[in-house]
Amino acid sequence: MNASGNNHAQFVIAPPKVYSLEIVGDVTRFPVSRFFCVGRNYDAHAREMGHKGPREAPFFFMKPPDALVETGQSIFYPAESNDVHHEVELVVALQQGGSDIPAERALECVYGYAVGIDLTRRDLQNVAKKAGRPWECAKSFAGSAPVGPLVRASGIGHLQTGEIWLDVDGSRRQTGDLQDMIWSVPEIISQLSRFFILRAGDLIMTGTPAGVGPITRGSHISAGVSGLGVVQFSVV
Ligand code: MN
Repeated sequence: MNASGNNHAQFVIAPPKVYSLEIVGDVTRFPVSRFFCVGRNYDAHAREMGHKGPREAPFFFMKPPDALVETGQSIFYPAESNDVHHEVELVVALQQGGSDIPAERALECVYGYAVGIDLTRRDLQNVAKKAGRPWECAKSFAGSAPVGPLVRASGIGHLQTGEIWLDVDGSRRQTGDLQDMIWSVPEIISQLSRFFILRAGDLIMTGTPAGVGPITRGSHISAGVSGLGVVQFSVV
């Protein structure tokens, strides 16, 4: 085995922390590898962002593992932005991966589901879009993905319908239904696996319904998907 694959190597610095999610009804945890995120996957949200027209192929961006924030934690308002938005999303956790996965077999890869929030520096994203630049500064900062506890698909089944919602300080801001996703979970996994070698531990954020808007210091955000419970956090 070469050096990069040697599990017994001595490291000059501490290796990266393993981020992980609570699993409902289990004392073991789900280790988080990478976040893949789908852009514009609900019609009403695509329209509110200024897009219209026929179904386009899905497009993707990523967040690193340190984007993860577990429910109940506080986050610091992100630096270098004055317009941080909430986007509530269904999160899919993979127990296996691969390349070129057919949609008909994609659900075999799914360990479970959670509700998550794709926090976005909207001001920086708008600048990046105009300039044709990448989105990392808008999307991929530490703490940009609060995620609730994971619910096993073996218990709840595979979600195709169900309410998805988000409240800021007790007022409903986003609401939608999973059945309104432009690309379904199996289609997303299949498309992603054409471009990336998916693996166990990857999380996929599947896009947000309409109603995105700003959070501010002092906001309390809670969000849910039917059957998956709630993710909540405060901004300080
Ligand atoms: Mn999003």
